[in-house]
Amino acid sequence: MMSDFSFDTESDEVYDVVIIGGGPAGLSAAIYAARANLKTVVLDKSSTAGALSMTHKMENYPGVPQAISGKELLSLFHQQAESFGAQIIQAQVFGVNFAKEPKEVIAADKIYKSKAVIIATGSMGHKPRLKGEAEFIGKGVSYCGICDAAFYKGKPVAVIGEPPDVFAELEIIAKYASKIYLFLKGRAPSAEQIERVHRIPTVEVMNPKHLVGIVGNEFVEGVTTLNAAGSQELMDVDGVFVYLHGNMPIVDFLGQQIDITPKGCIKVNQADMSTSIEGVYAIGDVICKEIRQVVIAAAEGCTAALSVDKYINQRQQLRSQWS
Ligand SMILES: Cc1cc2nc3c(=O)[nH]c(=O)nc-3n(C[C@H](O)[C@H](O)[C@H](O)COP(=O)(O)OP(=O)(O)OC[C@H]3O[C@@H](n4cnc5c(N)ncnc54)[C@H](O)[C@@H]3O)c2cc1C
Repeated sequence: MMSDFSFDTESDEVYDVVIIGGGPAGLSAAIYAARANLKTVVLDKSSTAGALSMTHKMENYPGVPQAISGKELLSLFHQQAESFGAQIIQAQVFGVNFAKEPKEVIAADKIYKSKAVIIATGSMGHKPRLKGEAEFIGKGVSYCGICDAAFYKGKPVAVIGEPPDVFAELEIIAKYASKIYLFLKGRAPSAEQIERVHRIPTVEVMNPKHLVGIVGNEFVEGVTTLNAAGSQELMDVDGVFVYLHGNMPIVDFLGQQIDITPKGCIKVNQADMSTSIEGVYAIGDVICKEIRQVVIAAAEGCTAALSVDKYINQRQQLRSQWS
């Protein structure tokens, strides 16, 4: 579902490369692309949503001998990418149009146009796991407030999710929904996050352990919960927004525009990280592999950026960055 949000489509700015995802894969690609003088932008939905940002302590990134948190390492990647001129923008991507030239990347704030695209969204997505979730995807179950919240103007909804994604989305959904039943799962929210929830008068915080499932006929009609006596109650809602983490590649925003493996990963040619669409590359945990490590994601970022440089500048071969 797409809402009637309007975009700044007036801008004719065309990037050499738009990188979707600001984890170690995307930011490594940005370092190499910007250093190759390519006009580079990274679109990252949140600096706390990726696998590296959730890593408490790392001791195996080469060249960093002391233990370091994922957040600290990410901040170094950031600084290095920006030092070469890469732009890093906080924006969630929820659609692409690879049939157009330049290619279009549809984000919350605007449509970005680019000659090449690198996908580096990682694998912190999740398989439908709530009762009724799979059945009602697109029929009341949504994973994107900015895309779908407007459909629920004046209507009650349920929001089920884990910090930190759920909080930013909650504020968007609250602009439209008349009532929000919030089921907070996973790690405990911070004091600042609790404060953000309390500022929204339409939110009622529910016990996540009492959530049973999503029900309806053709469309979502409610969520069932357990009451104190242990029997099931139906709460009427028209929509359910789900923000749960997991370990599925994040490819939902691609539609059917690119080849995906049966396991849900983007298919690539490992030699240059190219996908089934010319000028589109994929790197990091969003592609299938035996070993998921930061050093591997970073190496793939390097390969993809040099491949973009070859593609855009029509070089005969990859150009290494040493003199
Ligand atoms: C708990 C844990 C501990 C780990 N420990 C280690 C370790 O000690 N050493 C090691 O080498 N590896 C470790 N790993 C693995 C490592 O973190 C991953 O392999 C690596 O982070 C993958 O990088 P990535 O850039 O592909 O994905 P991620 O780090 O997941 O980054 C993906 C980025 O994409 C963004 N994104 C997603 N969807 C969108 C969208 N629609 N629009 C815009 N942006 C989007 C996210 O916000 C995120 O910033 C660990 C992983 C976990 C989960």
